[in-house]
Amino acid sequence: MDRFAYRDGELFAEDVPVSAIAAEAGTPCFVYSRATLEEHYDRLAEAFAPIAPLICYSVKSCGNLGVLRVLAERGAGMDVVSGGELFRAQTAGVPAAKCVYAGVGKTDAEIRDAIRAGLGLFNCESEQEFENIARLAAEMRETVRVALRINPDVDPKTHRYTSTGKKETKFGVDLERARRFFATYGRDPHARLEGLHLHIGSPIYTVDPYREAMTKTAALVEELARDGFEIRSIDLGGGFGADYESSQSPPLKEYAAAIVPLAKPLHDKGVRFILEPGRTIVANAGILVVKVLYTKTSGDKRFAICDAGMNALLRPSHYGSFHFIWPVAPGAAMTPARRTLDPKIDGTVAQDVVGPLCETGDFLALDRQLPASLGRGELLAVFTAGAYGMSMASRYNSSPLPAEVLVSGSRAEVVRHRESYDALIEHEREPKMLSLRSPAPVATRGQVPTLEKTR
Ligand SMILES: *Cc1c(COP(=O)(O)O)cnc(C)c1O
Repeated sequence: MDRFAYRDGELFAEDVPVSAIAAEAGTPCFVYSRATLEEHYDRLAEAFAPIAPLICYSVKSCGNLGVLRVLAERGAGMDVVSGGELFRAQTAGVPAAKCVYAGVGKTDAEIRDAIRAGLGLFNCESEQEFENIARLAAEMRETVRVALRINPDVDPKTHRYTSTGKKETKFGVDLERARRFFATYGRDPHARLEGLHLHIGSPIYTVDPYREAMTKTAALVEELARDGFEIRSIDLGGGFGADYESSQSPPLKEYAAAIVPLAKPLHDKGVRFILEPGRTIVANAGILVVKVLYTKTSGDKRFAICDAGMNALLRPSHYGSFHFIWPVAPGAAMTPARRTLDPKIDGTVAQDVVGPLCETGDFLALDRQLPASLGRGELLAVFTAGAYGMSMASRYNSSPLPAEVLVSGSRAEVVRHRESYDALIEHEREPKMLSLRSPAPVATRGQVPTLEKTR
């Protein structure tokens, strides 16, 4: 479910017309709905209530401080994968003690900062990383808690770029090595190895991979108990789906129905559960608004050229992902009933929705049925863009990063301004070795081509 809906032919974010938001914030801009974020968080908490998990929202899916604050107010912890994300979480008011930190390449500086901040749990991905965390904690005379990221070798049946729990990925350690890992490191006095972590991929639309992973994890917990190691926490990761087509709610109850029966006996024995949802909370809670700059036809192909493409939303180009796109103010007759590939409305024609960048891969949609009347200055909404939208946005072609707006009821607030040109170059320094007055190299002196002379 989300709170982006058409009323009388015009798209609203909760109770605010999206066109009014675009007029205020400019385009491209991301618009997030607070009520949608809260509803998704609450539904997830409710579905998994029997195992009372700590819900650590995945900062990398959408790290805007306003979004983090909405979830922090609900009691969420945060799942971070870098020092920068831990900084964001803390800035949004989330205590480090409620943060879990995964990632295969944590630097010494990041580990030290996390220890100093009082991080809740390191999700450790390799033997060398564990030794490094233990060494740094000992140096700092601190004790930290560590969970081992295991790789349960299940196929999540998702895009190979986001499949993270098969045997041959860079993430975690496989099940055979997990027992040896505990035997080697399970008694470290500074890095207390007491949890298991898994994150098998994203998005996962069926419950079987979770069931399989949870079954294997429960078996490992028993084996470790026989070896004399007690598991205190199990972090099941994220990966729950979002609805990219019709804004139905993701099947949170189905995931819970598959996972909870396997997890409950462990919960009842005192194991603390953690979830790391990103996409399922924020994907449907955000849209990207872009403006059509020009339309053109090349051969048989029709293009709508917009003021942002892969720089604002990389997913279509990078993963081949589908996002429903429709005008912000199509009029009542052209309002789609469902957000599907073919919205079955008369008067549409196939077009490529592309961005302004100098890349053929710069598109938001290919061969998409959109109103034939689509023209200059019209706003388009790209739906389900809250997750892995802004957080993967780039400044390629020196494109300033988009604005971000948070809506709550009839209020809309800019929570990130569109970048200025100054911001584009603020970290750059003119090289002192060069001076604008230095003469041209001898070989070309006197024959430096200029635009006037090239004819
Ligand atoms: C990316 C990531 C998540 C969140 O995944 P979603 O599909 O957005 O739920 C959770 N845990 C880890 C370790 C991740 O890397």
